[in-house]
Amino acid sequence: MFALSLCLWPAPLFAANSAQQEYQRLRPIFHRLEHSSKPMERDRWIATIKHFEALAQKTPESPWAPKALFSAARLWQRLSVWSGANRDLDYTLAAYDRLVGSYPRSSLADDALIAQAELLRTKRAEYAGARQKLHALLKAYPQGDQIKLAREMLSAVPGASELKTQTAAKAKNLARPRPFRVIIDPGHGGHDGGAQGRAQVREKDVVLGIALHLAKLLRADGVEALLTRESDRFVSLDQRAAFANRHAGDLLLSIHANAHHDKGLNGVETYYLDVEDRTYPGRLKHAMRTQKQKTTELNVILNDIATKGNTRQSAFLAEVVQKNLVPVIRGAIGKVRDLGTKAAVFQILMDTQMPSVLAEVAFLSNPLEAKLLAHAAGQRQLAQAMHKGIMDYLQQSNPNRTNSLAVLSRKR
Ligand SMILES: [Zn+2]
Repeated sequence: MFALSLCLWPAPLFAANSAQQEYQRLRPIFHRLEHSSKPMERDRWIATIKHFEALAQKTPESPWAPKALFSAARLWQRLSVWSGANRDLDYTLAAYDRLVGSYPRSSLADDALIAQAELLRTKRAEYAGARQKLHALLKAYPQGDQIKLAREMLSAVPGASELKTQTAAKAKNLARPRPFRVIIDPGHGGHDGGAQGRAQVREKDVVLGIALHLAKLLRADGVEALLTRESDRFVSLDQRAAFANRHAGDLLLSIHANAHHDKGLNGVETYYLDVEDRTYPGRLKHAMRTQKQKTTELNVILNDIATKGNTRQSAFLAEVVQKNLVPVIRGAIGKVRDLGTKAAVFQILMDTQMPSVLAEVAFLSNPLEAKLLAHAAGQRQLAQAMHKGIMDYLQQSNPNRTNSLAVLSRKR
């Protein structure tokens, strides 16, 4: 429906509106397109992209113009993922070029260069081009917030000697229908602050900081990262699970921080769904009903098999995430307990139709761990550990090596 109304939108009305109003009118459409879990007709994408571009053209001096160009580029990029068309990737790169060329002083220019470098590296294997974008960023935006990421990416762009193996990897990437999609779920938010440590360190802020950084790291590796919240707002557990299912995530990582009245208690633990719990059968049916599925006997059996299938991978994911988190916290703090991976029936694990884990990264009630959690550097370290865990999972759970999963599940 809305595509139609877009095409028929009378031009004079736009002229009378301010750029801001037009931008705000387009934003919800942008979000619907960018977060759509199924491809929609190409016309809808193109119409919205054209509207953003028209806005920038008509009011080039307004602060909304660079934002509009960036939105247009983002839509091209997302469309290119759906279509898989090389041509759409060309349009994406050109759209980012227009933003950087027209608005070099915009705070979005470095983000555009990062996006281009990432696309050139992962989709085209044009390493010289990727390096050139990153060098341009380092030179032009030394104070920007993407400097660190740009340096990390630059060190990851292969040199000439590695080109051969990377080209093979690229061919494999192109064969994938879409990039691997990780749903990152920072706990709490808004009026729900979660646990609170000393000196006003709140769980909701800490886990958001970790989640945002983790998303950046994953994206730099060509993994798609979607967050259940990207700001300090309340999102219910139902909404989080629905978001993950709607976007058909390949895995979900929920991030929390622990608390205990005993301040001496410290440690890391990672949970996966407990399908042996006595409440599991009832909760499986409940989850099916909230997802509007029929709870016929056959349907329940099928869901049970699917859930248990995911749980084997979840247990493995929990293992690699935990394994990577422990040394980081020990490195930062010293003696910290490895509380291990545990099975439990958390709603977010029960209601998501994909391998999912919940990490309690440290104790906010413990003064030393709270200090690590409170600082951006500490949050980055934890994000790096989880990023490593996910990359290990990706590497080891590929179809040729499912044996490792079977061995693991027998151990539990
Ligand atoms: Zn929590």
